[in-house]
Amino acid sequence: MKPSYKVRDFGVTKYGEKARAWELQGAGGMILDVTDFGGKVIRLLTPDRHGEMKDITIGFDSPAGWDATDPYWGSIIGRYGNRIAKGKFTLNNVEYTIPLNNEPGNIPCGLHGGTRGWDAFVWGAEPFVKDDDVGIIFSRTSPDGENGFPGKVDVSVIYTVTKDNTWRIEYKATPDKDTPINMTQHVYFNFKGEAGGSIEDHTLWIDGDATTPTDIGLIPTGEVAPVEGTPFDFRKPTLIGARINAKNQQLEFGRGYDHNWVLNKKVGEMKKVAELTYSGNGRGLEVWTTEPCIQIYTGNWAEYEWTAKGGEHLSFRCGIAMETQHAPDSPNRPEWPTTIVKAGQLYHTVTEYRFFAK
Ligand code: BGC
Repeated sequence: MKPSYKVRDFGVTKYGEKARAWELQGAGGMILDVTDFGGKVIRLLTPDRHGEMKDITIGFDSPAGWDATDPYWGSIIGRYGNRIAKGKFTLNNVEYTIPLNNEPGNIPCGLHGGTRGWDAFVWGAEPFVKDDDVGIIFSRTSPDGENGFPGKVDVSVIYTVTKDNTWRIEYKATPDKDTPINMTQHVYFNFKGEAGGSIEDHTLWIDGDATTPTDIGLIPTGEVAPVEGTPFDFRKPTLIGARINAKNQQLEFGRGYDHNWVLNKKVGEMKKVAELTYSGNGRGLEVWTTEPCIQIYTGNWAEYEWTAKGGEHLSFRCGIAMETQHAPDSPNRPEWPTTIVKAGQLYHTVTEYRFFAK
């Protein structure tokens, strides 16, 4: 099969921007359907062990679908993915304030880059076919002061679909002032299909010896806690549902898994860090990344009233997001790997979702 793409209109966002969508058809059969509205994934089709293709992600028929539910499904997240405590951080002796757009446990914080994060803009888009690959380059310039962050940032995100059914995501950003950058992709997976019910019957492996426990506001306490002997130990492949309802304060705070694992690797080293499989149909994926951490979020706030493409109902824990990243609240944790990118420096990270069926 030759890799190819086709484009269509995708409606208008609530900010009045016209969106388009591209269906990227990989040489290995995988289909990635994405929009320039936040680089969001609309559909993602992979084969099961019998070669049957199914849409294994949650997305919507138009931009309004995200407005009616949650803005982040399948989105590019920036400038700072995950939470910043009280929406405040100090950099080069200046205190910066970003919008408080989230309040777990009634404690306000900044989430995923602020009120209108990078997920909520229509980006420049350039699709390409190169040898066996098909992909799209999204780009935009985030102005100085956007959502309270210092510095203008020229950013691009390259999605590539390879002949091996890998979705490669490359993030590049250059600020003109020192600023925190922590980008990720907020795609959800459900190997039973978009509205396939809970992912508690999926098996997860994470190469992480520790997590960063949080307070009730889902802000890290600063502790780096070994997973040994806890429901957070996925060093051997384990069903997600095996311990998700265990009596455990961290699981109560998150209503399930909504936690950051510290991966057993060096920052910048490209390594396999996690695997998700579903024995029912053999679909699986490996996560490879240059990032030091991963946030695992099991859709603990998803509701049945929410409908996705074609009006299908979603449900509690209807998908799992595997968000490669630096640790939450890093700008307030100087002892952790830094998220500060210096003026003129290139921020460059790579994450791959390598799909398979067995
Ligand atoms: C966070 C969750 C949040 C979700 C919103 C995840 O990255 O960890 O706490 O509810 O994003 O989509």
